[in-house]
Amino acid sequence: MLGADLPGLHGCRKCPRLVRYIETLAPKRAYRREDYWNAPVPGFGDPRARVCLVGLAPGAHGANRTGRPFTGDGAGDFMYPLLHRAGYASQAEANDAADGLQLRDLYISNAVKCVPPGNKPELAEFENCRPFLEAELNHLCRLRVVILLGQGAFTSYLRMLRAQGVIGRLADYPFAHGASYRPARGPQLVASYHTSRYNVQTGRMTEGMFLDLLSQVRRLAAAESG
Ligand code: SF4
Repeated sequence: MLGADLPGLHGCRKCPRLVRYIETLAPKRAYRREDYWNAPVPGFGDPRARVCLVGLAPGAHGANRTGRPFTGDGAGDFMYPLLHRAGYASQAEANDAADGLQLRDLYISNAVKCVPPGNKPELAEFENCRPFLEAELNHLCRLRVVILLGQGAFTSYLRMLRAQGVIGRLADYPFAHGASYRPARGPQLVASYHTSRYNVQTGRMTEGMFLDLLSQVRRLAAAESG
């Protein structure tokens, strides 16, 4: 099962700290609490995707408001136009979950499905939520490449592979933008700097860098599909 059909995701309360945070989160100016999704945010995209992009967790006033990953905040405002230019998204705009956006050959999700305070999930929260990401990945039967957006998502994914017995030491997989690794089994992984507003404003992430990364991923997916 994918997205909103993931068994157990709807109404999940396994992480008390995150449940409390969502219940008390103040809306952004010009919004009311009723405008917010305020619940676990499922992944979305093409069920036959060869590429999956995994972020850290929903943004407080982005995905946690709209109910769709990277939709309605700076990270998505940067990313979706570039996904569109690269042919992975049907349109450049990603404003709300009903905007008609469709992904092609791409599925997008997060390591943790509920918004964490300060964008920092705790280790136990990663582990609580890991089965949902594993279920999504297992359901992507053509999956060839996983993009891990930011060090948090990257390390969480490595921990999942270690728990599955696919890799040994995490230290053998250092994080660097564009670094790609081939575990003993399963899809290749590619690390990327996050597309956060901070990274974009400081020049750590640029349009050219993200487009180059998408080209790299497309080549890898094609080679793996060989
Ligand atoms: S983060 Fe994941 S495991 Fe924790 S409450 Fe949300 S959906 Fe459940």
